[in-house]
Amino acid sequence: MMQKGNIGITTENIFPVIKKFLYSDHEIFLREIVSNAVDATQKLKTLSMKGDFKGELGNLAVRVSIDPEAKTLTISDRGIGMTAEEIDKYINQIAFSGANDFLEKYKDDASAIIGHFGLGFYSSFMVADRVDIVTRSYREDAQPVKWTCDGSPAFEIDVCEKEDRGTDIVLHISDDCKEFLEKNKIKELLDKYCRFLPVEIVFGKKTKWADGKEQETDEDNVVNDTIPLWTKTPSTLKDEDYKNFYRQLYPMSDEPLFWIHLNVDYPFNLTGVLYFPRIKNNIEIHRNKIQLYCNQVFVTDQVENIVPDFLTLLHGVIDSPDIPLNVSRSYLQSDANVKKISSYITKKVSDRLQSIFKNDRQDFEAKWDDLKLFIHYGMLSEQDFYDKAKAYALFKDIEGKCFTYDEYRELIKDAQTDKDGNLIFLYATDKDEQYTYIQAARDKGYSVLLFDGQLDTPLVGLLEQKFEKARFSRVDGDVIDRLIRKEDEKQAELSAEDSRSLSGVFTARMPKMDKTEFHVETAAMGENAAPVIITQSEYMRRMKDMSRYQQGMGFYGEMPDMYNLVLNADHRLVKEVLADMQTALGEKLQPIENELKGLQARKAAVEESQKDKKYDELTEDDKAQLRQVEDDIEAQEKARRDVWAGYGEQNPVVPQLIDLALLQNGLLRGEALSRFIARSVDLIK
Ligand code: ADP
Repeated sequence: MMQKGNIGITTENIFPVIKKFLYSDHEIFLREIVSNAVDATQKLKTLSMKGDFKGELGNLAVRVSIDPEAKTLTISDRGIGMTAEEIDKYINQIAFSGANDFLEKYKDDASAIIGHFGLGFYSSFMVADRVDIVTRSYREDAQPVKWTCDGSPAFEIDVCEKEDRGTDIVLHISDDCKEFLEKNKIKELLDKYCRFLPVEIVFGKKTKWADGKEQETDEDNVVNDTIPLWTKTPSTLKDEDYKNFYRQLYPMSDEPLFWIHLNVDYPFNLTGVLYFPRIKNNIEIHRNKIQLYCNQVFVTDQVENIVPDFLTLLHGVIDSPDIPLNVSRSYLQSDANVKKISSYITKKVSDRLQSIFKNDRQDFEAKWDDLKLFIHYGMLSEQDFYDKAKAYALFKDIEGKCFTYDEYRELIKDAQTDKDGNLIFLYATDKDEQYTYIQAARDKGYSVLLFDGQLDTPLVGLLEQKFEKARFSRVDGDVIDRLIRKEDEKQAELSAEDSRSLSGVFTARMPKMDKTEFHVETAAMGENAAPVIITQSEYMRRMKDMSRYQQGMGFYGEMPDMYNLVLNADHRLVKEVLADMQTALGEKLQPIENELKGLQARKAAVEESQKDKKYDELTEDDKAQLRQVEDDIEAQEKARRDVWAGYGEQNPVVPQLIDLALLQNGLLRGEALSRFIARSVDLIK
């Protein structure tokens, strides 16, 4: 636990902080030391350009080397170096104020502390027992000096021998950090943090295969690309360059769809290249691949708070010295620069999509399937993006034709407006599974959209809010005439009684399935439509879909699947079942129906006589009377159900029709399926 009170921060206080709190992030020491070396080199180049340094620049590479015997890791540069006074000023006197609060607040966030205080150099004590600085300033006749410190506040500084200008930082790696003496570990870290630094970083020698083994050559092994693609002028770059750079960043990924080269210098500085990956179905695997750099130094690949959520699906690089990377992540969101950067990127992305759409619609349509998840995600999560994207977001119909929202509305408005003036958008999620329903809609001259994307269900919800007087319905949500109700609606051809009996017979024969319920009803669907179809209410299906990826909706997921089995009252087979049933059951059903009619009337009368009394004013006698008539009705209804069931039992057409409908929806399985096959074979014989 840190001391309380007002401590004047000195090295004495900072070491325990570094050791204790920064443990998890300690590999960043290498980034810090190498960046310092790069800075010192850049400074010398600047001095040389201005004429303030007249000597030879020579090879300016920064060298990283391991000495396993001496247990040291050394980072050497040929930059400006330091004089003894400079060491005192920049290394010994770390002056800062308000540090207590800050340390308390960000104690878990190493890069925040290190960056905030310019403690880059001191991060080396996270992995080293002792650190030496051997340095010689670029100034003529500068005296080389050696500074050494074992992590305690005491340090030593002395004159030493050093021929060349520049600085060697020698880390005497502590025993518990031996991994930093391993070649592969250092290679991995250089690759992660230093890959695009602007000065060559050399780590060992290049190797080649000879005589069946890997052998060192004389050539320096440069680990970085000093002029990465995003720092170049776009007009000098070809498509192939962008693709190559993408492969360099993500060797395992498919080729990107297209890219945006970012380049701003006012009101903030930002460069970078963002790629649109092909996103088929899995959003998660594409997330968090954007790498954030600050002057070519890798900072993080966690960009959540810097760009809007949907943009984290893009890939590529953002480089900005203006993103305050060294503060806590929650602070980032409220930072004015970050907000500006975020809306700048959103706008750029949207403009790019817009321009491809405008200038090469064919190309845009060809890429739509790979793009749509990204665009839908953006539309669902950012209002600003929706407002722009609605002009180029596409609907694709069953045949693969693409339309903008406006074009599509225009296309269907005559045929698909219902009697209340609502425009009905029909869609299918699977061309094959919903084939019959799609066909039924097309027979009516309707258009059917294909919504087979991961975000289509939530998108439908959003579009229903945004579009006026519009509703979306899956083709199998109901009988087609009921999905788009027109004025000239056909009157049901069955009497209520016939419809009830028919439904009753079929209900009795419905197979029992786990977590699945059927409601049987009749509808006049025309002679040519199927005799029996299965529909599922749009509402229930959507809720169940949503429950899969939205928290707090698990309740819907638990509900059984509820389907409607709709008998086509116009179909010959259904009519025949009805006629046959009437003949067979007429005599049995009539007395029951009569009895039921009488009982219903009696119930109505009893209720009428009791209607002025509140429930607690009813006498026992009153209650008993009502209960009796209800029991009698239930008994008659049961008798009627038994008659229906008895009939259904011996009618061969009923189960066959049910099974055909189930089969069509992939609901006929297992034993039920093999019974159906056996029965069908018998029918052929
Ligand atoms: P920061 O780099 O954030 O200023 P550091 O603690 O990393 O903080 O370094 C402190 C200072 O020490 C640097 O600003 C620089 O002036 C000096 N310094 C560090 N490393 C080198 C180096 N390799 N060559 C010359 N000067 C250096």
